[in-house]
Amino acid sequence: MSGLTVVVGSINADLLIRLDRHPNPGETLLGDSMAVLPGGKGANQAVAAAQLGAATALVGAVGNDAYADIALSGLRAAGVNLTGLVHPDGSTGVALVEVDRHGENTIVVIPGANGTMGRAAVESQRELIASAEIVLLQGEIPRDGIEAAAALATGRVMLNLAPVVELDPAVVRAADPLVVNEHEAELALSGLAVRPAGTAHEDLVRGLLDAGVRSVVMTVGAAGALVGETTDDGGASVTVVPAPKVRAVDTTGAGDAFTGALAAALSRGEDLVEAARFAARVGAFAVQAAGAQPSYPTLADELPAIRQ
Ligand code: ATP
Repeated sequence: MSGLTVVVGSINADLLIRLDRHPNPGETLLGDSMAVLPGGKGANQAVAAAQLGAATALVGAVGNDAYADIALSGLRAAGVNLTGLVHPDGSTGVALVEVDRHGENTIVVIPGANGTMGRAAVESQRELIASAEIVLLQGEIPRDGIEAAAALATGRVMLNLAPVVELDPAVVRAADPLVVNEHEAELALSGLAVRPAGTAHEDLVRGLLDAGVRSVVMTVGAAGALVGETTDDGGASVTVVPAPKVRAVDTTGAGDAFTGALAAALSRGEDLVEAARFAARVGAFAVQAAGAQPSYPTLADELPAIRQ
């Protein structure tokens, strides 16, 4: 295996403002700096996968403004196939991120062109999506666009339910894997009307498998990830994948680095636990530098090792 990974998702320009403290309503403050960086969960995950050797295409939308070039810059540099881009009138998606001296952030997202990625826009790229070995989806485009992409897929569908959107439960159950953090796992469980046996990490993963999800990868920050799979005898297995111990500087986009790396490893034929181990090393690499895409490794980088 090493076919095409097609990400169907969001593309943003992130306006990153650093300031001493967050302003109160009605207050004007002077900040320290501003940078405009490429972002959006779809773009981040496509960049991570491509930099790790996966043949990757992105189906997404940018507007006709100056932010489009910035939003696409990381994708272009990583060699992501952009033939599936659509160009609606209007603005590129923007995330206004304010980070104070404690590293606390507030984020306002204006979806812009991402909001046009509904069924019709996604179906305009049906051939590309149907040709994918892996279709990778997130929650930053409209619900009917996510569902349309899942319906067009002929290969494996990975669903990173971030942010959590209400989807046809059949789409969530067919995810292989469903990639969620702890908070998203809880919301996904309530969306599937399932109450887990307890609140421990393993209970959440088992609850999702019991609800009929094909496979689950739950990320748990510095603790790594849990991989849940159904076994041949109809049971469930949950494997804990520890994260390498590193000094985290900025966890922005770590989940996207993890998910893109997971897709890259699956596309080269690794099983889900092996792929999650690789993804945990990539996530740990990414938290050691600032920003999302600029912190992602390439195949030339040495990844931190898991020592357990
Ligand atoms: P975000 O939305 O901020 O991208 P997330 O909640 O989706 O994050 P996390 O669980 O925080 O995702 O992180 C994803 C993966 O990155 C983890 O599973 C782990 O492998 C790695 N990671 C995150 N934080 C750390 C850390 N402090 N040390 C080592 N690895 C980390």
